[in-house]
Amino acid sequence: MNNLIKEKNKTFLKYIINIRRSKFTYIILLLAIAPRVLWMTKDVMPDSNLFALNVKLNFNNFINNLGFTKSLLIKSLSVSWLFILITFFEFIKSKSIRNLSISRINYSKGGKYADLIYYMLSLFEFKLSYLTYFATLGIARFSGSFRSFLNKVYENLVPIDFFSNSFMILFMFILGLLIFELGQYISHRVSHAYFWEVHEFHHSATEMNILNVNRTGPLHQAIIGIIDLPFVLLGVVFVNQSIVQGQWPIFIMWTIFGVAGECFGFIGHSSLKLIFPKPISYIFLSPSLHWLHHSNNPKHFNKNFGRVLCIWDQIFGTYLDETNLKDIKGFGFKHSAYNKYNPLYCYYILPIKKLLQRKLKINFRFP
Ligand SMILES: [Zn+2]
Ligand SMILES: [Zn+2]
Repeated sequence: MNNLIKEKNKTFLKYIINIRRSKFTYIILLLAIAPRVLWMTKDVMPDSNLFALNVKLNFNNFINNLGFTKSLLIKSLSVSWLFILITFFEFIKSKSIRNLSISRINYSKGGKYADLIYYMLSLFEFKLSYLTYFATLGIARFSGSFRSFLNKVYENLVPIDFFSNSFMILFMFILGLLIFELGQYISHRVSHAYFWEVHEFHHSATEMNILNVNRTGPLHQAIIGIIDLPFVLLGVVFVNQSIVQGQWPIFIMWTIFGVAGECFGFIGHSSLKLIFPKPISYIFLSPSLHWLHHSNNPKHFNKNFGRVLCIWDQIFGTYLDETNLKDIKGFGFKHSAYNKYNPLYCYYILPIKKLLQRKLKINFRFP
């Protein structure tokens, strides 16, 4: 039995691709996500006289003048950029196509190439949580009435002149980020405790293959988005104010934070082992610790709920560090109903059906 566990562990460890934790690697990763950053934020950038250049206008003009095929190419590249980038990174590190996490798509239980189908479907999906994160700030910048509503909330929450220097602006910004992350933490934890029928879909993948980050589906996105909403709105009050006062430096930090969330998501479901050194790891959740969240070892259940920060996991006692990685024996729940049906059915229908069935059961038990 022990040998069997060791053997399974070996197959998992075989796929891990270690990244050298050098400053160089981090700089390359940051530069490589720059196009994605520009794309995600082009509509919410603050107007600035910095460099005497309106980035927003120039960028939109550039896209509009490209013509249909080229602009479609740029748009698809912007959507798949992180996936291409991380897969490319895996390739230069492992020098073998077989070791790419995408190559393991075949080994996950369930429909053939299911994760590829889920990835394609997710491209057309209305992402409520992502939308609230970026668009709410966008609305705050463009709509005068929404902005004055935010300002009123802010004035009621914070005494006038309290945030009058750059240190306090930074403090207010960090407070906004902590509120955002608390929303992410709570919505994820609530989905484990009360909406497991729906969230189980994400945990049904039995291989980490980069694309299984998209095993979510519209019902899941909607539930998470609704739980997130109050936190996102409150976070926006603080982030918006700090951008208004701190302008570009704060805006750049906020953008990096938003894109880091996306990057961590992809890396956390890939073979790249990225563990941050201390003291960074006390604040930021190393992407590879998400492997523990997907581990099928009961010791790892309901741990590492965070997205970018691990602060809330540390505070609420759900944090597991990298010393636990050696106890991973495999991933996901292979007997999950989500591995038994057609991918289209699993993506759109099964979550609704499972949730309704549970409600009915409760009604029968407690009429
Ligand atoms: Zn989960
Ligand atoms: Zn995951």
